[in-house]
Amino acid sequence: MQLYSTNNKAFKVDLKQAVMNSLPPDNGLYMPTELPLLDPNFIKNLADYSFADLSFIVAQHLIGTSITKAALETIVHEAINFAAPVVELNEHLGVLELFHGPSLAFKDFGARFMARIMGHYNTDEEKELVILVATSGDTGGAVAAGFLGTPRIKVVILYPSGKVSPLQEKQLTTLGKNIEAIEVNGTFDDCQALVKQAFLDKELNKSIRLSSANSINIARLIPQSFYYFEAWKQFHRAGESLSFIVPSGNFGNLTAGLLAKKMGLPINHMVAATNANDIVPSYLQTGSYKPKTSVSTISNAMDVGNPSNFSRMMDLYGSTWNIVTEEVKGYSYSDEATRIAMKEIYKQFNYVMDPHGAIGYLAAKEYRLKHKSTKAVILETAHPSKFLEEVEEALNTKITIPERLAELSQRKKIASYIDVDYGVFNDFLVNRFSK
Ligand SMILES: *Cc1c(COP(=O)(O)O)cnc(C)c1O
Repeated sequence: MQLYSTNNKAFKVDLKQAVMNSLPPDNGLYMPTELPLLDPNFIKNLADYSFADLSFIVAQHLIGTSITKAALETIVHEAINFAAPVVELNEHLGVLELFHGPSLAFKDFGARFMARIMGHYNTDEEKELVILVATSGDTGGAVAAGFLGTPRIKVVILYPSGKVSPLQEKQLTTLGKNIEAIEVNGTFDDCQALVKQAFLDKELNKSIRLSSANSINIARLIPQSFYYFEAWKQFHRAGESLSFIVPSGNFGNLTAGLLAKKMGLPINHMVAATNANDIVPSYLQTGSYKPKTSVSTISNAMDVGNPSNFSRMMDLYGSTWNIVTEEVKGYSYSDEATRIAMKEIYKQFNYVMDPHGAIGYLAAKEYRLKHKSTKAVILETAHPSKFLEEVEEALNTKITIPERLAELSQRKKIASYIDVDYGVFNDFLVNRFSK
């Protein structure tokens, strides 16, 4: 497998370099040079495969000989070790539950796969790898859980003190093993600045091998294409038309669906569902892309004002607006509409949905007004208990918290506490990891 930079198609690297560096030096994003079509019989016979087995076939098809067949099979089976069931709301509308992993959100798929690919490529290196992650809450939990126990990789997570939810904090600070948490007396931006300074510190980089677990790493995108096949297997019937509705922020999930489609999964439309941060829906409507400062909403994992994967979407369609608008539809909704939707889904289907999924539900309804003969699968990106207060208030009822989340509150937090001071952060890294 080869990849190029979206800023320069002549700049090509192998999978190892794309994964270990996350970003090309020209600040573009890596994209596969080829998205070869899968055998149509594979798509027709998806029902013959388990989720992990079909994921392996898609992975191998895309990755080719960059990783040996045996190694890739192990990586995929370890990463895709939980289900992604489609729950049928009615015969036209399904919900693809992507929250059955360790951090209860779809980001587990990307994080678990990336961790294992990095671990694989790291085995020929002399020094251990230290991954630095700044998080405002959610991403850090998935990354930490993804890398837990990966040999010869250490993860250091920086999070802003008092600015993540108590449960999120537990997800970051109770794992132990190769995961270290640093509570920073500052904001998320301060955490990011500290990490950035460490990457730019030439002296530090001589003694420690640093890397990032960036959300735009191609190794996070690839596994997100697997569950579109899994959902197709469960919900599509011969002769039907099927579209996917994707609650979107940075548009990684939606872009992964476009990769699945390019590889031959005959998806009718990919539908972007956003909150008030409606940059992409408004691009689809007007043809002009206007990034904005993000606004806060109750579906806060989608509060993104300049989605990084937009350039990947453009790349897939040669930046041609009328082609993009044929394949991708977009809708956006307010917090008020989101709350009403959560209530409606609960009343009508007795199903509890989180605010992100509820935005997907609204988009599915609006989309189907114009596309009545197309079935829709809504991606439910997080378990509702991750947004407990909002959901319980909207539904006016208590919801059940999954055991593995409830159990977290009993565990003891272990974190180092630092001020926003690069000298202190640098000392921490040197003392811990420099040999
Ligand atoms: C990250 C996240 C999203 C947005 O996904 P993108 O791939 O960035 O578009 C949606 N919902 C939840 C719960 C998330 O954590």
